[in-house]
Amino acid sequence: MARYTGASCRQCRRERLKLFLKGDRCYTDKCAVERRAFPPGQHGQARQRKVSDYAIQLREKQKVRRMYGIMEGQFLKYYKEADRLKGITGENLLSLLEKRLDNVVYRIGFANSRRQSRQLVRHEHIFVNGKRVNIPSFIVSVNDVISVREKSQKVEAVVDSFEAVARRGVPSWLEVDKAAFKATVKTEPVRQELTMPIQEQLIVELYSK
Ligand code: SF4
Repeated sequence: MARYTGASCRQCRRERLKLFLKGDRCYTDKCAVERRAFPPGQHGQARQRKVSDYAIQLREKQKVRRMYGIMEGQFLKYYKEADRLKGITGENLLSLLEKRLDNVVYRIGFANSRRQSRQLVRHEHIFVNGKRVNIPSFIVSVNDVISVREKSQKVEAVVDSFEAVARRGVPSWLEVDKAAFKATVKTEPVRQELTMPIQEQLIVELYSK
């Protein structure tokens, strides 16, 4: 599976926004956006030219894509699926992204970044309804139970992340049983709980051209 292997902080600086790609570091004053709040590269500090509508839409798409760590082709597939589903395309798109197993593992708090949660899934630490699932793009459904493999419940990174999740909060559509290292998907993701500044309509406009 293709994935971005460059510097994470560079992506945040390009979007001029904290995308929380590095876990604990993102909450410290070592965060690159806190230190250098301008785009990377030779012309990063140059005076900004007038930005076209297309550029604004493109940046919004890139921001969301980078936030969830998804490559271009797969993101387009999510858009097409969102467009096919009933309801508002932009909200469908965000709902699909939220329901990816790697994102759910991150939201529950088993990992402190989506990159780390993807690794947990890939390395077979995560079970869905009692069965091992090692596909980060697996889409969870209402009533699914996501748990950590018993042997992995002592892994330091998992324990530390689970302790630290209060810092960002668990969305209400997930019900966590902390003692049992598991969580249940209670409802579909709630759009209002996505606190990052996302204008999904701009992404729809970009792909509708
Ligand atoms: Fe982004 Fe985190 Fe790096 Fe800050 S520390 S720039 S939020 S990845």
